[in-house]
Amino acid sequence: MFACRACGTSDVRSILSLGKTPLANALLTLGQLNQSEEVFPLELVFCPHCTLVQITETVSPEKLFREYLYFSSFSETVLENAHILAGRIIERCGLNDQSLVLEVASNDGYLLQNYKQRGIPVLGVEPARNISVVAEEKGIPTVSEFFNVGLAEQLKDKGDVADVIHANNVIAHVADLQGVVEGISILLKPDGVAIIENHYVKDMIVSNLIQSIMNIYAIILLHLFATFLHDMAWFWLMRSGFLYMAVHCVFISSVQMVHDHWRKRVLCA
Ligand SMILES: [Zn+2]
Repeated sequence: MFACRACGTSDVRSILSLGKTPLANALLTLGQLNQSEEVFPLELVFCPHCTLVQITETVSPEKLFREYLYFSSFSETVLENAHILAGRIIERCGLNDQSLVLEVASNDGYLLQNYKQRGIPVLGVEPARNISVVAEEKGIPTVSEFFNVGLAEQLKDKGDVADVIHANNVIAHVADLQGVVEGISILLKPDGVAIIENHYVKDMIVSNLIQSIMNIYAIILLHLFATFLHDMAWFWLMRSGFLYMAVHCVFISSVQMVHDHWRKRVLCA
């Protein structure tokens, strides 16, 4: 029986069921076209107790993320947002060459490169081996592993404790929500700041309703359904985010809207 990833209750409500579908981005080669394709249930549920919206199926992270096709630097918008964000955080936190900025799922170094250019030490954690190679080629030190409590303790034992930890549009990809939040709290210095961006489900729905009124249903449905994937385990309402962080002793100090893909950015201390 499915249990809510945040509060553990099995009393969840079904919102949307798309049956069984193949994994997103798992593109087939010519030789695979005549073979049967692996499919997984894709059902979205709402937890009335903590308000977390989530999918019920947990696909192996090894299957989803060891080879990944999405490179963040392909998007000019992502690069621009990353540059602006890094500049703000450097000023806000007074970072210098004695600081450490760590990013969970650092992709190809699209964000950390901005800190590195300002002389601030960085460390990326990126499980996709094909992408971490590209980051290393750019000079971004990258640990090619999944981020969890075990890895956080290993890094802390080596002295890698961070002034700033970024987790941009990533913890929704992690079914072990508790593990990634605890890992962040292990690696963050007592006065450190964690900056987390995640899909905000209220804006996803409102945005699509407004577009529905404009009678472009096909595009809306494609856009909305394209956001519910096997590799996105859950989506926040703000209340569920606050509750979850409060339970894990991480304080949310501010919230900002990021104007692409209905994401909200929260700063935690
Ligand atoms: Zn719940």
